[in-house]
Amino acid sequence: MIRNLLGISGGKDSAALAIYMKTKYPEMQLEFYSSDTGKELDETYQLIDNLEIYLGIKINILKGAENSSEDPFDHFLHMYGGYLPSSNARWCTKKLKLEPFEKYVGTDPVVSYVGIRGDEDREGYISTKNNIQSIFPFRQNIWSEDVVRKVLANQLVDQCYAYMSDIEIKKQSEKYLTILTTPVSMSFNQTSKLKALLDIDTAAFNQMVFKYLKTTEYPLAKETYFPLLDNDEVLVRSDIFRILEESGVGVPQYYKEIGFEHNGKSGAYARSRSGCYFCFYQQKIEWVWLYEQHPELYAKAMVYEKDGYTWMQEESLADLMKPERMSRIKEEYIKKTQRNKDKAQSPYLLDILADAEDEGCASCFI
Ligand code: SF4
Repeated sequence: MIRNLLGISGGKDSAALAIYMKTKYPEMQLEFYSSDTGKELDETYQLIDNLEIYLGIKINILKGAENSSEDPFDHFLHMYGGYLPSSNARWCTKKLKLEPFEKYVGTDPVVSYVGIRGDEDREGYISTKNNIQSIFPFRQNIWSEDVVRKVLANQLVDQCYAYMSDIEIKKQSEKYLTILTTPVSMSFNQTSKLKALLDIDTAAFNQMVFKYLKTTEYPLAKETYFPLLDNDEVLVRSDIFRILEESGVGVPQYYKEIGFEHNGKSGAYARSRSGCYFCFYQQKIEWVWLYEQHPELYAKAMVYEKDGYTWMQEESLADLMKPERMSRIKEEYIKKTQRNKDKAQSPYLLDILADAEDEGCASCFI
């Protein structure tokens, strides 16, 4: 038996995935977990409570350094001699998210469901442990890159063609088989081939992959049935907000836009991600949001800045909170938002705020 695990980061996408999976596949034995750094926003803890009530389940809270008397983040910060994490030295994700998760999994075969949306182009955390397989239910392609690379390798064309003899292709079966037997080349790369096959018949492609998996050591090789094979839904950002709102779980409060006036101009800010309140991935305007909306947390974040270590490379929080600096950040932000709004296709401020959303860590922000 494999275990089906779904991680709740505190972000909107993983919360929506939990609701989606529980509602769409009620027969699945899903285990929910969340890795607590001890430094999340209160809104994140509130979201976890709401999900537990709505789903009627227990979310297992995983902690790095569980026997320590300190919060997990502080425990490891001491171990690292006060060296604050950064995008180049992201010890926090490793120690607070990945290692507790891998310990929780142990050696059991696990399918891990990841809430990367259909309108995102990123892969998220792929465990290097071969007993953990990632599945992406919101995307047209539910499989991880490594699986796709193997199944669409030119050496496997004949094998995959043979699998199709007992898989029903509902439409354009000749076209499907022609594409399947066309080797990947410079002019027809793997991404194009994948997209073409999925566009013709997603379920047929998924069944083909499932047959291939049977010949491997992937966790799904142990299953005789996998309910997501027929899933051809693609969920994008607006679907996520709809799922959260319709369910009553609600969108985490920190995503809510707050308007402000600055030098006679109107702006609106929010936080674009879940994660630790001092996360170094946040943008300048999000630090301003933290300073103005959660001054006590800003003050706590400042306490960590000592011995030359700062959350941002080029300035300290003491510098950022100076009135003239905050004013400049707001000014630039209003200009940038306006510029991006003219080009943006989405009405969500989040799309504008989180223009670097693909940066960062799937464990913390999905
Ligand atoms: S939210 Fe940011 S600071 Fe916290 S663990 Fe994740 S990457 Fe590190």
